[in-house]
Amino acid sequence: MTMNLQDCRALDAQDPLRSLRDLFHIPEGTIYLDGNSLGVMPRSAPARVADVVAREWGTDLIQSWNKNGWFALPKKVGDKIARLIGAEPGTVVATDSTSINLYKVLSAALHLAETDQPGRKRIVSERSNFPTDLYIAEALCRERGFELVLVEPDDIAAALTSDVAVLMLTHVNYRTGAMHDMHAMTAAAHATGALMVWDLAHSAGAVPVDLSGAGADYAVGCGYKYLNGGPGAPAFVWVHPRHTDRFWQPLAGWWGHATPFEFTPDYRPAPGITRYQCGTQPMISLAALECGVDTLLAAEAHGGMAALRRKSLALTDLFIELVDDRCHGHGIGLATPLDHAQRGSQVCLTRDEGAYAIVQALIARGVVGDFRAGDPSTGSGRTGSKDILRFGFTPLYIGFEDVWHAADQLRQVLESGEWKRAEFNQKHAVT
Ligand SMILES: *Cc1c(COP(=O)(O)O)cnc(C)c1O
Repeated sequence: MTMNLQDCRALDAQDPLRSLRDLFHIPEGTIYLDGNSLGVMPRSAPARVADVVAREWGTDLIQSWNKNGWFALPKKVGDKIARLIGAEPGTVVATDSTSINLYKVLSAALHLAETDQPGRKRIVSERSNFPTDLYIAEALCRERGFELVLVEPDDIAAALTSDVAVLMLTHVNYRTGAMHDMHAMTAAAHATGALMVWDLAHSAGAVPVDLSGAGADYAVGCGYKYLNGGPGAPAFVWVHPRHTDRFWQPLAGWWGHATPFEFTPDYRPAPGITRYQCGTQPMISLAALECGVDTLLAAEAHGGMAALRRKSLALTDLFIELVDDRCHGHGIGLATPLDHAQRGSQVCLTRDEGAYAIVQALIARGVVGDFRAGDPSTGSGRTGSKDILRFGFTPLYIGFEDVWHAADQLRQVLESGEWKRAEFNQKHAVT
């Protein structure tokens, strides 16, 4: 028997994480299923940002670098993020963007490969990886004389030949929500002598991650998705301690220097993760990011990432079940794996026609998801040959009743055919 609205309300009433929703400003009448693209604003953020602007900047001015902890903030926030991704204190820094951090760690990985194993000249990744990851890798390969090899998920193991320097994967696929087994993939890369680089853009704050346990080499991740850090929030970078002191920062700025305030003309990298900083960091954005990360740390008192994961799977299971039950006969398919071990915190539906317009019609009804275009060059349907209706389920603030309404609104949009209206078929610059 599929759940009804009353059942969903009962689940919300019993949910030990329910009170965490109060940490967020959720716009009236909105069911926000796009926290995988831009997380909801924490209630603490406006006052914190206003204080950084008015008092720290306005009054304390330059003294804030010491007095208000500005200089240490990237590492302070990094240490908080470390708790969410199974990393040791002092191994993560919140800085720059995901794209830039990926450039830094890939460059470091290629440098290690060139030094230790000069015969290895390939980076392997997934064809359906997020484009910026592939573009950065492609650019570095061109610059450094490497080759980027793109494969389907099922062909990764076979692609790990003895000339592979780096396996670079995104843990949870942005388009399908499919999740890799981090331990197994890392072990497979290491077994063939390759280094393992993970992108945690759709994992950090969404699913439990154990970078140290998996023994990965490098990781990057995003601050504005499940970490709720605000638009363009700084990203983060992690390096396994075995590598941190063997890295020549390709963007060798003064914030990565061992003694930046000696202003020496030569670059001497700081020990550890500090060297992954480049230049002066955006303090207002870092303060907002800290508010976002604190919403996840607040869950530690209620079971932490394990509890969030249980709820996330219950939410995505429910959505899949309700869509199957209430929307059948409307050509809706499922791109997200049913197997829990292979699922992130999002559900991606497919439809041969009208996916974009259906998402627009849902947004007009207050159910905010997003659309991702299919890539006809991709072979298997699972990895993205079809257009996608994408729904992210952030267990910090999404409830079971929200899921019920979202599925019901989708049913109404499909049954009424209202998505065919011209207004819903107009493409915007950002989808
Ligand atoms: C969101 C996302 C990014 C974003 O990179 P930016 O530098 O913040 O634009 C990168 N990689 C993946 C896998 C993502 O999902």
